[in-house]
Amino acid sequence: MRYTGPVCRLCRREGVKLYLKGDKCYTDKCPVQRRAYPPGQHGQSRKKLSEYGLQLRMKQRLRRIYGVSERQLENYYDAAARKRGITGEILLQTLEMRLDNVVYRFGLGASRPQARQLVMHGHVTVNGKKVDIPSYQVRVGDVIAIRESSRNLDVIKVNAEAASGRALPEWLEFDAEKLEGSIKAVPAREQIDIPVEEHLVVEYYSR
Ligand code: SF4
Repeated sequence: MRYTGPVCRLCRREGVKLYLKGDKCYTDKCPVQRRAYPPGQHGQSRKKLSEYGLQLRMKQRLRRIYGVSERQLENYYDAAARKRGITGEILLQTLEMRLDNVVYRFGLGASRPQARQLVMHGHVTVNGKKVDIPSYQVRVGDVIAIRESSRNLDVIKVNAEAASGRALPEWLEFDAEKLEGSIKAVPAREQIDIPVEEHLVVEYYSR
């Protein structure tokens, strides 16, 4: 099941910004900055984590960043482990190439949850066809755009404007005028800027 409670709690639990709220995440109102300890009664008296505890926290952190369910992440891991190459890296690449994440990276969604909504509500096209599945895997060469009839939505205009100052990852291309972007390459590990040590996630699943 997907978590639907207060999202800032998740960031405080993980001790890092997961950027789930949108604009608030970029201001000093962010609770992770204000209260840098886990939520709850015992938040300030936490003990050192065991090896398993560290792996578990890292797996949860990854899951929460991309907003995927336990089952989905497990499936992604299984598929990554079957492929040739570094499992952790392949896992991150698969998550990065989800359609909702790409919409977020373009800046069309202020957060990944909001980007997911835009996809689910049918505002996004891939190679000219509407795709409303957030987990859809994009491929190199795909062109992702906002649907013609959705281009005037305030939320999209505001987000595109706010994102214009943020750096776009090198593996993507985006035209803010056309509200259209493309996938230039599969992202390299160093182009995926998330605070996750993926080897701990791999260790968690390969226990
Ligand atoms: Fe809340 Fe965003 Fe800060 Fe996370 S990063 S605690 S979602 S404001």
